[in-house]
Amino acid sequence: MSFSNLGLSDKVLAAVAATGYTTPTPIQEQAIPHVLARRDVLGIAQTGTGKTAAFVLPMLTLLEKGRARARMPRTLILEPTRELAAQVKENFDKYGAGQKLNVALLIGGVSFGDQDSKLTRGVDVLIATPGRLLDHTERGGLLLTGVELLVIDEADRMLDMGFIPDIERICKLVPFTRQTLFFTATMPPEISRISETFLHNPERVEVSRPATTATGVSQFKVNGGREPHEKRELLRRLLRDAKDLNNAIIFCNRKREVAVVHKSLQKHGFSVGALHGDMDQSARTAALDQFRKGEIPLLVASDVAARGLDIPAVSHVFNFDVPHHADDYVHRIGRTGRAGRAGTAISIVSPLDSKSLAAIERLIGQTIPTAEGDYAVHTETSEDSDQPREHRSREGSRGGRKPRREREPRAARDSDKRGDKSAEREPRHAKGTGRGARPQPEAGAFTPPAAAQPSRVPSIGRPEPRRAHREIESEPADHSHLPAFLLRPVRARV
Ligand code: AMP
Repeated sequence: MSFSNLGLSDKVLAAVAATGYTTPTPIQEQAIPHVLARRDVLGIAQTGTGKTAAFVLPMLTLLEKGRARARMPRTLILEPTRELAAQVKENFDKYGAGQKLNVALLIGGVSFGDQDSKLTRGVDVLIATPGRLLDHTERGGLLLTGVELLVIDEADRMLDMGFIPDIERICKLVPFTRQTLFFTATMPPEISRISETFLHNPERVEVSRPATTATGVSQFKVNGGREPHEKRELLRRLLRDAKDLNNAIIFCNRKREVAVVHKSLQKHGFSVGALHGDMDQSARTAALDQFRKGEIPLLVASDVAARGLDIPAVSHVFNFDVPHHADDYVHRIGRTGRAGRAGTAISIVSPLDSKSLAAIERLIGQTIPTAEGDYAVHTETSEDSDQPREHRSREGSRGGRKPRREREPRAARDSDKRGDKSAEREPRHAKGTGRGARPQPEAGAFTPPAAAQPSRVPSIGRPEPRRAHREIESEPADHSHLPAFLLRPVRARV
């Protein structure tokens, strides 16, 4: 099958040829003819399958006829995060270079004025996050009554982020007769229900099982401590020991944990950026760009980075926290091993994670092996053990109090405010489990350290001989033991 058999216009075929793609991916092959035939489509496909081009290419073909009117976009694409919205815009820029279409991005964290003047000029393709889109409609600067085609992308992610009521409101603002394309990676019952509401007699196209992990990714778990500072120490050792580590994304479950881990790694001399939904848009874009360009090899991120972002060649993924949702595990480790490359995913598993881990292993249909090597947690007595020596002595003079960031992590900004709805929120399942509400582990629930277990898998690196706490404390503060690329300077952007 070639692209020329799908019914795309000559201009679009020329743009595809210019990118060097010769064969449509399965989702493109199946979905594009239906989109061009003006059918509703229910696409079950994960990111990485080429699903963006599966709607961008036929949209470009359909949009060649007709003109946009002021404040009345012709097509609308809804994305759960600003990064995904920006990525879809890049696809329009790439494939639509030969066409004079107006493509506008309505995302939070960017001034209303610029967005407004774009809307006034008339927009062929509007790519938006739900909160910011509704802000514009409520201000009267945007009419959705001219929308001929609506794309709801990453619907299951929208559900996780609590956006479904907004999507329902938006669907009432677009004409009933519109064409709708609905993409989701998984089909939980709630998504089935809303797809029946939003779609009219859709063509269903499905290209992969809802949740599978790439075969090229070696997965390991390491039993971590119950305390955050123990996990941070373990993470540093894993980073130092990791074999063939070129770059890595370190996932945390909470935004404030991202900030803490980011700061901690910086203090220990790692070249690291951060990405989470409470950062302002320019900081998010800058962190992602630096990581993509290889200027910073490490990125600490929340699940905002887990889905859809097209970051080629990530060698390692670390789960600082085991995700609460098994699906998120699949998405996170899907950041590595892309396009047939090898990758390594290592999860730090604390005694509290046993239920989440069991759900993940059920979903992926395999037991995640324990990494070989001495990754037993070295219990540190100093509350400041997470800090390099020079910081420890300074903080130590406060009479043993924890540093402020330990006692009181920066409170998450209210991302539920309308204007910032596109910012990632705490996932719904995390609500009510804030600071203080976390369940305490049962006495004796600690999992034996990896070192105490028989080794079943190849080593993930060069495990250091087990050292006593005192030796770690007296470790020199220089960072000569780190590979040079991990020491490249980076500006903090949190
Ligand atoms: P997506 O699933 O849309 O995030 O796409 C994943 C990656 O596949 C992107 O880097 C695309 O540029 C790339 N891609 C899309 N279509 C094709 C194709 N037909 N052949 C090869 N790569 C593609």
